[in-house]
Amino acid sequence: TPPELLRNFCIIAHIDHGKSTLADRMLQLTGVVDSRAMRAQYLDRMDIERERGITIKSQAVRMPWAVEDEAGALTPYALNMIDTPGHVDFTYEVSRSLAACEGAVLLVDAAQGIEAQTLANLYLAMENDLQIIPVLNKIDLPAAQPEKYAAEIAGLVGCEPEDVLKVSGKTGVGVTELLDRIVQTVPAPHGDPAAPARAMIFDSVYDTYRGVVTYVRVVDGSLSPRERIVMMSTRATHELLEIGVTSPEPVPTKGLGVGEVGYLITGVKDVRQSKVGDTVTNLAKPATEPLGGYSDPKPMVFSGLYPIDGSDYPVLRDALDKLKLNDAALVYEPETSVALGFGFRVGYLGLLHLEIVRERLEREFDLDLISTAPNVIYDVTLEDKSVVTVTNPSEFPGGKIGEVREPVVRATILAPSEYIGAIMELCQQRRGDLLGMDYLSAERVEMRYQLPLAEIVFDFFDQLKSKTRGYASLDYDVTGEQAADLVKVDILLQGEQVDAFSAIVHKDKAYAYGVMMTGKLKDLIPRQQFEVPIQAAVGARVIARETIRAIRKDVLAKCYGGDISRKRKLLEKQKEGKKRMKTIGRVDVPQEAFIAALTSE
Ligand code: GDP
Ligand code: MG
Repeated sequence: TPPELLRNFCIIAHIDHGKSTLADRMLQLTGVVDSRAMRAQYLDRMDIERERGITIKSQAVRMPWAVEDEAGALTPYALNMIDTPGHVDFTYEVSRSLAACEGAVLLVDAAQGIEAQTLANLYLAMENDLQIIPVLNKIDLPAAQPEKYAAEIAGLVGCEPEDVLKVSGKTGVGVTELLDRIVQTVPAPHGDPAAPARAMIFDSVYDTYRGVVTYVRVVDGSLSPRERIVMMSTRATHELLEIGVTSPEPVPTKGLGVGEVGYLITGVKDVRQSKVGDTVTNLAKPATEPLGGYSDPKPMVFSGLYPIDGSDYPVLRDALDKLKLNDAALVYEPETSVALGFGFRVGYLGLLHLEIVRERLEREFDLDLISTAPNVIYDVTLEDKSVVTVTNPSEFPGGKIGEVREPVVRATILAPSEYIGAIMELCQQRRGDLLGMDYLSAERVEMRYQLPLAEIVFDFFDQLKSKTRGYASLDYDVTGEQAADLVKVDILLQGEQVDAFSAIVHKDKAYAYGVMMTGKLKDLIPRQQFEVPIQAAVGARVIARETIRAIRKDVLAKCYGGDISRKRKLLEKQKEGKKRMKTIGRVDVPQEAFIAALTSE
């Protein structure tokens, strides 16, 4: 298809504002999926996406759409819809998807208004010079307030409220007009067809049968089947086994030219050989400059991951290896814990990424897992000026330390203005600095904060939601790092450190953490034959203490003498129970106690 007849667009929307439903209607209206084959959220392929209603991996789909001109002649266009992931953890993937488009549909729920996530992505789209098409969705809802929110959106994108399209992805109202508007206002892609090929990778997905499927947008030149290609960041070369477009199932083509969006198959088995943001070129006639903007995904949040049943460790290892084929951002290494046994230290992009990985491991590989409290990545400067990178509290150096640096984020919070006070209070508790504040309308405000990432990974979003009755939305981007007064708090059982509970916290919060953790463990650890002190300590200094009083537990006393076989059974059972006990110093602790202490929050 010549570039003049192509339109590449994406849909920017907050979770639940109806992106998948609108995509479904577009697939139906353009005849790509017939009504009988239609199922809800056609493009959300992973089960977990469908259930949680979120889009994790982006997908691209090509749809034919003919538009009538004034003379009544039909011009056949091809629309490429690139579905972007809608969550903060995947900002990098969102920005790559945006870079593959010339236009963006800004989709806003007409009963909710714009949210922080949408705003962040809208700014990204504007930075990428995309043509923005503002759209209010769900106008069929009785609670919809299209006039009010049209004014809000118009103020943001700089258009007239009348220019905001009103649609319902559910009933299909307005979707035809939206498709026409895309053709009319989104610019056709332009590039040099004679130049060496340059195509940007905006997604890569591992498929059990076909290996890695790489989604690209061709910027210059063209790619054809059987030619040899080079990935410009790694210089790795591959043969193009297949090239095609998705509509909505993969259809092989004879090639992809300027402005086209499609997929490549090279037979590689690991998505890290096909990195999002990288540039693909032709080996025989390579481009000299890659397309801008590639960066490696950087894990920011770390946590220990352990099988509840220790014998599942090899299964967990294999499962992580398999998952990694499809998730370039996932990193892990083996770790052992006195309390939890053999497991892994896993690095994630953020908290949602953590939840998704864990849920996929449990679901797809039938594992029961426990994760330790997440922490961020720290740079610790020692007295001799050398720097240690710490991703696990146990690596935190003891003794004298020069400086500890932690990552900071720029957070955007959107909320009704009546909650400004509550939000400020929360952000202050979390060591935040207010950067600025703007009113989107008389009753809605956008607040910008600088906050330590560590303060956000620990239940910040839940707190924000509860303090604003669910009305606030949050987006954040890691912007740098800062020096902070951080210490490691250790938890000791009878003087022995329990590794899984060590945490790196701000000096002012060390005491609160110590009291909380010792209190929790006191309730969870059964009494022993002797007294057991539980202490929280910073270095050698004890900052909190609880004591589990001793008991003499005579199990056999319960059996009223008499029945010998019953006594024996009881002894057997006790022995079995012992196997699942972890011994910390002289103290026997059932593993469930540790698990309960880590999960109850
Ligand atoms: P996504 O998270 O943006 O992909 O949103 P979904 O398409 O999954 O939609 C979220 C919820 O809103 C689902 O329960 C949909 O049925 C509902 N929904 C989507 N579009 C409309 C609409 O136009 N009208 C109404 N009433 N509900 C809608
Ligand atoms: Mg969706």
